[in-house]
Amino acid sequence: MNVYDSEQILRVLSPLGYEITSFPGAADLIIVNTCAIRGKAEQKAFSFIGRLAGLKRKKPELIIGVGGCVAQQEGRKILEKIHYIDLVFGTQALNRLPGHVMDIAVRRCRIADIEMSPEIIEFSPGAPVVNGNITRFVTVMRGCDNYCTYCVVPFVRGREISREPENIINEIRGLVETGVQEVTLLGQNVNSYGKKEGLCSFSALLKLVNEIEGLFRIRFTTSNPKDLSEELIFAFRDLEKLCGHIHLPVQSGSNSVLKRMNRKYTRELYLDKTDKLRKALPGIAISSDVIVGFPGETDKDFEETLDLVRKVEFDSLFTFEYSDRTNAPAAQFSGKIPGNEKNKRLRMLLELQEYYNAKNNRALVGTTELILVDGFSKKHNPVNGQDGFSGVQWTGRTSTNKIVNFVDADTLSGDGNLLGKRIDVMIEKAFLHSLWGRPVNVKPMPLKMKGEESYAA
Ligand code: SF4
Repeated sequence: MNVYDSEQILRVLSPLGYEITSFPGAADLIIVNTCAIRGKAEQKAFSFIGRLAGLKRKKPELIIGVGGCVAQQEGRKILEKIHYIDLVFGTQALNRLPGHVMDIAVRRCRIADIEMSPEIIEFSPGAPVVNGNITRFVTVMRGCDNYCTYCVVPFVRGREISREPENIINEIRGLVETGVQEVTLLGQNVNSYGKKEGLCSFSALLKLVNEIEGLFRIRFTTSNPKDLSEELIFAFRDLEKLCGHIHLPVQSGSNSVLKRMNRKYTRELYLDKTDKLRKALPGIAISSDVIVGFPGETDKDFEETLDLVRKVEFDSLFTFEYSDRTNAPAAQFSGKIPGNEKNKRLRMLLELQEYYNAKNNRALVGTTELILVDGFSKKHNPVNGQDGFSGVQWTGRTSTNKIVNFVDADTLSGDGNLLGKRIDVMIEKAFLHSLWGRPVNVKPMPLKMKGEESYAA
């Protein structure tokens, strides 16, 4: 959501002449787009803001703005605490941002704008602000009405509101024209899409997106298990562009913890839905989020979470230690779990999940997977002979969202461009978080890989 919002920030500021620089020292304006979902994210944001003090000392005319969920939550307090911040703007102030930046540049004033609006902001389509992307996020709705007791989203992103299908379709068509081949539709709970406004259902929206010519793949996130409809489950079977992966956050495997989290589903319902998904689309990848150490979580509750992980055999898991969040009701709950115990549970969970990561990835060795190449591998720079590799290393994802890295014989010189190509890759090695493959029908290259241990042997 923040990646998408950052693009919108760039979009509204570019008419003022602002463009991106990779060098903070060269910037006239620095915007820190923050996340408040966990304590750690908030600490990171403030520690980054702390590092900007020196830049402001050297260049007093530099404008520094703080946006996003922490800005929405803290508002004017940020201006009071940090003297070199010029602007604080909330999650629903993006359209007012250019006016604020101009005001500050001219009058050297300080502004806090955290006004919420019941309407969704639509930005005029216009030229792409980030070029060369093969995959992009597209927000279909904002806010959330679920009020899970650990979560700040309803307070910092506001009540749930959906965009009109035509606006979404137009935005995606525009992206496809610029070379985008894959979109990820974003919403805090996409299953509620359009319900309040009487728009079409999320599955119907997916059907419309599926018809967009030139688009190759569709993903979406996130879906609350309680609202995952049969219609949406069958969309995985019926829509050829919808990828075979769902992120379905479970948060806990214990019914008593789920109840206190106000998640409104049980472990039985979750297991039933994952079962139905696998029947609808055999081989579908399922990932999830789990919070450990929620207030009052007993050893037995935690064991139930481990048991659910064993039953579902997730393809990947995002695991978090519970942290109190301002405004979230659970901050007032008794039975807080000590840090060392949360840490111990997190390690146990990670260890268990690593087993399933390895198992699920290993099962793909020997298969041929169609991947969409979306760039160079993160770990290895595209420089011949460096980092133990004999050539240019590309990366892409399978429909099931697995990362596949490979070296292509045709691009060993670095001249060939595979970006955006759809390539069949034979999977040769499996790692915990990625796969290694070889494009089919391309002469195998001698690989000198170091670092990661392979699970394929
Ligand atoms: S569904 Fe729950 S966890 Fe997700 S954004 Fe809404 S309140 Fe937060």
